[in-house]
Order: sequence, then C-alpha cells, then structure tokens
Amino acid sequence: MQTIATETSVVGDLEVGRQLTGADRCDSCGAQAYIRVEMASGELLFCAHHGREVHDKLFPIAKSWHDESAKLLEDHRS
Ligand SMILES: [Zn+2]
Repeated sequence: MQTIATETSVVGDLEVGRQLTGADRCDSCGAQAYIRVEMASGELLFCAHHGREVHDKLFPIAKSWHDESAKLLEDHRS
C-alpha cells in the first residue's frame, strides 16, 4: 500500500485515502480525474463527466466513491 503524506492526513478517515491531484487522469478520456472509485479489483479514476456517466453502474458495487468534482466549480471561478 502506498502512503502519501498530506496536510489533511490528520483527518484519520476510514474512507478517504488521499486527495486527487492534477496528475490523476480519467481512465476513459485522460482528462484530470475528480472522482476516485475503489473497486474490489482496484482503483478507478474518472473525470467529472465520466464519473457521472458510470455512477449508476458502478456505485452499487464500489467499495467507496470519492467525488471531488465540487472542486471543479471552485477552480473555474477565477
Ligand atoms: Zn473522462
């Protein structure tokens, strides 16, 4: 298991592993990923668009669903 120290590591949450960064890319189109889905078989990353698209299909079988797409709205305010 990979451990990355972040400033939010004090949260000690069971579900949130790490924040997504600009280096994380959507598995479908290669855009910046804002949604991280933990499956039994591994981790999937999606942009906001594809995250919504696969949500209905994957959400019921995902171990956890980490959605940072709200950040997208903030980023585009400037
Ligand atoms: Zn995408």
